[in-house]
Amino acid sequence: MTISEALGRVRAVIEGAEEEAGRPTGSVTLIAVSKTFPEADVRAAIAAGQFVFGENRVQEAATKFPSVKADFPSVELHLIGPLQSNKAREAVALFDVIHSVDRDKIAAALAKEMRTQNRFPKLLVQVNTGEEPQKAGIAPRETVDFVKRCRDVHGLAITGLMCIPPVGDPPAPHFALLDELARRAGVAFRSMGMSSDYETAIGQGATHVRVGSAIFGFRDYGAA
Ligand SMILES: *Cc1c(COP(=O)(O)O)cnc(C)c1O
Repeated sequence: MTISEALGRVRAVIEGAEEEAGRPTGSVTLIAVSKTFPEADVRAAIAAGQFVFGENRVQEAATKFPSVKADFPSVELHLIGPLQSNKAREAVALFDVIHSVDRDKIAAALAKEMRTQNRFPKLLVQVNTGEEPQKAGIAPRETVDFVKRCRDVHGLAITGLMCIPPVGDPPAPHFALLDELARRAGVAFRSMGMSSDYETAIGQGATHVRVGSAIFGFRDYGAA
């Protein structure tokens, strides 16, 4: 299957899930996750009409996307992986949306860089819905307070929440929890759902789905 064909299939599934959930067509944004895949694959997706991309490493994105963005200024790039504060400068310069704000140190570093660069990517707070010790994200019970603190202490507008459910758990309850926390925090974006569960996520209110392998194929980390 070509990237263009795979994109067509994913778009059809999204449309079906929107309809099933009684949501308007086009209410879900597809983020094509291009991590580990070469710039040529990104350009093939653009040729097929895909302009929103996700990468999980600042460094890797910095090798692929400056030239892509120079050629296609409407490309929107999302950082979906963990962010270290020493990468805040590069992240603010390169990304249009950052999904992984999860502690005060990162919020402070982003606020400082955004002021310095006068560039304002949209920000999402990552929530560790499964409360997994090894996983990034803020605990569910701290989420509403943290969103408030981002605004009141750090001067940051938070646009939404993001989660990655634990491997092996049924994802729907995690998606429902994220949707509920977003409602309580008063934020619009719900970034949830990957290749294996984006249909389920749309049923639970996802506004952004992050789909990689269903578009670009199997990821060979060994070669990356
Ligand atoms: C890699 C990744 C995805 C995409 O995963 P697929 O299973 O290939 O669709 C989505 N979200 C995050 C945070 C990722 O790191």
